Amino acid sequence: MTFADNSRGRAAIEQLLRQGTHILAEAGVESPRREARLLLQHALGFSAEQMLALSPRSEVDQARYLTWVARRARHEPFAYITGQKGFWTLDLAVSPASLVPRGDTETLISCVLDHCPDREAPLSVLDLGTGSGCILLAVLSEYPQAQGVGVDISPQAAALAAGNAVRCGLEARAAFMAANWMDALAMETRFDLIMSNPPYIPSHDVTELMPEVRNHEPVRALDGGHDGLDAYRLLCAGLPSRLTPGGLGVFEIGIGQEASLRALAVENHLEVVEVRADFEGIARAVVMRRQAI
Ligand code: GLN
Repeated sequence: MTFADNSRGRAAIEQLLRQGTHILAEAGVESPRREARLLLQHALGFSAEQMLALSPRSEVDQARYLTWVARRARHEPFAYITGQKGFWTLDLAVSPASLVPRGDTETLISCVLDHCPDREAPLSVLDLGTGSGCILLAVLSEYPQAQGVGVDISPQAAALAAGNAVRCGLEARAAFMAANWMDALAMETRFDLIMSNPPYIPSHDVTELMPEVRNHEPVRALDGGHDGLDAYRLLCAGLPSRLTPGGLGVFEIGIGQEASLRALAVENHLEVVEVRADFEGIARAVVMRRQAI
């Protein structure tokens, strides 16, 4: 390898980065240089550490990289392009069958850790609208004696979640099924924890979401009906007959929905134990307990 070859190699990589950055910037992607670099990293099959030591001789599959840049320029979520997303401590596979797991949703996991301090508790957990399985799998990863069921109306999402359980080594304690909310559960089955990040965007707001979300993520996982509360009505009504005594419901909520959730809790004889904000200070997780009546 001559010096000239080396500098040509480096120039090619830098040229690709510049080209990718330009295309993404033109498309209005927020951090174009960063994303172009991450797509290049993915096209090279490199880790972040390898990327720091990027060799001028590194061979990149240009066609693959540029196809990914073009997809990102159409505002496809980054995680759908790379097919993976980190959630809590887990590395999960993602696909358009489910929402991309979000950092906000980790608020639910931190609530569970605080309200169920015994990590050895043999908790039974239900995750409704499980999507990628992120919530259930994160909880199971923290409670080695817990087991759980994830339910999603989309068979593709249930299959994705089941694959993620295997990917995380949690398949012995996690079962997934395609069903409508609690419909498929046997009448007598009760859970210590019922969790959900249900669709909660009011229908008329869905078209105003960022293009990554409105054009690429499953609308069924977003659209919560006219006031965004359809799923919560159903979930809150179901909690009293589905929770074990002392069991908790832990739900994600959208901006401005805290008061409505509190009202639904009262209607269904549920006590709101905590409403926790996400890192942006937005009320994001509601923890409820069945009231003794
Ligand atoms: N937080 C999501 C978003 O707006 C919505 C998720 C949901 O409806 N459950 O990006």
